[in-house]
Formats: sequence, C-alpha cells, structure tokens
Amino acid sequence: MPHQGWVDGFGRRIDYLRISVTDRCDLRCSYCMPEHFRDYEEPAHWLRFDEIERILRIFASRGLGKVRLTGGEPLLRGGIADLAARIKRLPGMADLSISTNGTQLLKRAQALKDAGVDRLNVSLDTLDRERFASLVRRDVLKQVVLGLEKAAALGFGKIKINMVWLPETSAAELDAMIDFCRAHGFILRLIETMPMGGTGRAAGHASLQPTIAALRERYGLIDGVVAGGGPARYLVSPSGDFSIGFITPLSQHFCETCNRVRLTVDGVLHLCLGQEDQLDLRALLRGGASDEEVIAAIDAALLRKPHRHEFGEKPMKLVRPMSKTGG
Ligand code: SAM
Ligand code: SF4
Repeated sequence: MPHQGWVDGFGRRIDYLRISVTDRCDLRCSYCMPEHFRDYEEPAHWLRFDEIERILRIFASRGLGKVRLTGGEPLLRGGIADLAARIKRLPGMADLSISTNGTQLLKRAQALKDAGVDRLNVSLDTLDRERFASLVRRDVLKQVVLGLEKAAALGFGKIKINMVWLPETSAAELDAMIDFCRAHGFILRLIETMPMGGTGRAAGHASLQPTIAALRERYGLIDGVVAGGGPARYLVSPSGDFSIGFITPLSQHFCETCNRVRLTVDGVLHLCLGQEDQLDLRALLRGGASDEEVIAAIDAALLRKPHRHEFGEKPMKLVRPMSKTGG
C-alpha cells in the first residue's frame, strides 16, 4: 500500500521539495546577493545528480509529487536538463518547475522543454534597461526578454514573472510590468522583500496590501485561483485573461498551509525558509545510511519543522542570503 505521505508536527502535509542546484549566480540582485559575494559552497560538497535522485526517490515513496529547481541560478549548473529529465522519470512526479533569472533561457529553454519541465518562474523586476542593470548589476535585460519570449513560443504553460516589491521604486514600474505580462500571457507575481541576509534587509520592506486594494479597484479584479499558485493570493480579471499574484510573507503570511521543505546544493534540508532548523542529508548519504535510516531521520526532522518564519519579529535572524536557499 502506498505511504500516506509526510506530515509535519503541525499536521501539514509535506509534498513539495525545492532544490537549490547551485549557490552561484551570474547576476547580483541588490536584495539577494552581495555584490562581491565569494562564499560559495565547495564543488566537492555539491550533491551529485545520483544523490539528488536518491533523495527524490525517497521523498516520492512518501507522496512527493512536486519539485522546483532553483538556486543561485539553476541554469548555470552543468547538465541541468539531464537532471530535469531524470527527475521527470521518477514515479508520481506530477509537477517539475524551475525558478530562473532568464539569462540562459534563450540557450536552454528547448532542452528544458524536451526534458519535460512543466513550468517556469522568471524573475524580472523592471523593463527599464538602465534600472534593470543597476538592480541586477549586469546589462542583460534584452537577453532575459528574448529568453522569455523563446520559452513562451515553446509552449511552456503559464509562465510566472516574479517581481520583488521594492519600497522606493516598484510602484513606478508596475503599469509597464502589467502591460508586458498581459501582452505575453504571463502571470505577474509581486513579492514582498524578505530580510534574508544583509542584502535582503537593506532592500527595505513595504506591505503589498495597499497595492492589492488599489489594483482590485482599478482593474475590477476579483479573487481567483491559479494552478501551481503556491502561497500566493491571486486576483484575476472578470474575463479571466489576466491574473496577478501576491506573495506577502510579512503582511499576511501563509505558514499554516506550508507544504514544502528545501534542499540546498550542499545537501542540507532546510525545514523553513525563515529559520535555521535543518537536517544534513549529505552527511547521511555519504556516511552510508540506508534508505530506512534516511527516512527515519527525515521523519524526526519534520517533527521539528517550525510553525512559521519570524521575518517580522526577528528580522536580524538570518545571515544566509536568499541565493543560498533559493527562495
Ligand atoms: N536565480 C533564480 C531567480 O532569480 O529566479 C532563482 C533563485 S532566486 C533566489 C528565487 C526568487 O527569490 C527570485 O524570484 C528572487 O527575486 C527572490 N528573492 C531573492 N531575494 C529576495 C528577498 N530578499 N526577498 C524576497 N524575494 C527574494
Ligand atoms: Fe541571482 Fe536569483 Fe539572487 Fe538575482 S535573485 S542574485 S538572479 S539568485
């Protein structure tokens, strides 16, 4: 009989794993990675593909059906399309998605599509070339937009555009971003900045709630549901031709319905994005643990999964930048 699935200490069903396949990145988004960041994980510590596959088989045996590859920039990991194809072949793997900054999409979108990747989330905070270059510290807006258009032409399902909501500047970018997403059939998602590392804290924070109210009014949007929508709350146009999502970890968190854990490139299972609680799976795997021993360790770890993040109460808590855990 199939196992009924992994449930944490608060009764939440855990059926979603986010895997950071690299902590390296070709951009330096101001709210994410410090400009001169060098503190990368040693290659000898990176989980190999066979190790990732083994961990996923174990999770799949307990009902995991949803995986996201992230980073750093996941498309920089050599052989990423091969890894995606291996993951898609696992039993019960219903939904494989990737979060990317889009710089490599023009080159890699076809291979990812062929590998069976179901969905893409692409980060894009502005359509203004100069502003983009100063935000990500590289002049690559055109490359990202061409990559996005290529992915759309290949028929990836609804592509989501992740826009981090920066207090000083994002409001002025919003109309252009909405027009762009409408024209291309992308789903725009606004994300409140999280105080991850010094960079995340320096970005400041503004609640999205006033923007949600204003957009509802202005475009006549109504509450809606989007497939694979995760913790975002969505508003849709009455005709259904446009959706916009809001990820509001600070102004309205969704921790009660959290269904995920995260694996970093060094093989550490992070039980909560906003906490330090973790389990070193690499040590177990490389120490010769059997599948039963790994399962027992995950069973015990899930009972320690924190109830919620404390971004609001303890903003200084996390030293790791978002690029380490993968958002
Ligand atoms: N490099 C890929 C990308 O940019 O999509 C994947 C990794 S990135 C860390 C994943 C997501 O985290 C991106 O959408 C990014 O905008 C978001 N992110 C990074 N730092 C953040 C922060 N301090 N607060 C909120 N979101 C953040
Ligand atoms: Fe790189 Fe993504 Fe972080 Fe930007 S948000 S620095 S693209 S990992």
